[in-house]
Amino acid sequence: MVDEQIAARGISDLRVLAAMAVVPRHLFVPASVQAEAYGDGPLPIGAGQTISQPYIVAFTLQALDLRPGGSVLDVGTGSGYQAALLAEMGAVVTSVERRPSLAVGARDRLADLCYAADVVEGDGSLGWPPGAPYDGIVVAASGPVVPDELVAQLGVGGRLVMPVGGRRHGQELVRVTRSEEGVGGSVPESLLPVSFVPLLGEAGWSR
Ligand code: SAH
Repeated sequence: MVDEQIAARGISDLRVLAAMAVVPRHLFVPASVQAEAYGDGPLPIGAGQTISQPYIVAFTLQALDLRPGGSVLDVGTGSGYQAALLAEMGAVVTSVERRPSLAVGARDRLADLCYAADVVEGDGSLGWPPGAPYDGIVVAASGPVVPDELVAQLGVGGRLVMPVGGRRHGQELVRVTRSEEGVGGSVPESLLPVSFVPLLGEAGWSR
């Protein structure tokens, strides 16, 4: 998976490649799709949600450009796979999920595998203020805009990576680096066309 799908397509961050080589993706997906866990595509994780294609996960993590020991907010815990990768890379991870059943499953899975990530339940479109400021915020669901509430929870120089665009189509993965001028001075850069499930919540889609 790492050599053919990720490194061959230009992901060069060694911490990302090393983490993706060791976190067992098959343990984050239902038994019915475990045989496809190292394939080149997204997979269902229950409750109508999906775990992203490995390349997209790697691209997102590289775009975050984390320092070891940095604090990260992972919005949309889902299976917990991305939270596990962040923990493996040495980040201090808070992961927020709006669906209680997914949060409980991910919390158990991460604990069984000994990944230190704090999984909380709530509307992550508004971030998770108790853990702010963060060095990085990563959002695994697509919203109509980058919520100001999220940018406000970054420390200066911190980076947010999230998909933005239409509810189902026309989405771009964007990165916002928090500037010294505050939320208004932090301009999004477009990185890649993508397709994610919707970010539902107060600063996301309403349904
Ligand atoms: N990062 C996940 C993929 C999750 S899919 C993984 O590695 O498995 C997107 C997730 O975002 C879903 O679990 C969905 O329930 C969640 N989500 C959608 N809107 C949300 C919100 N406002 N706050 C928190 N989680 C949300």
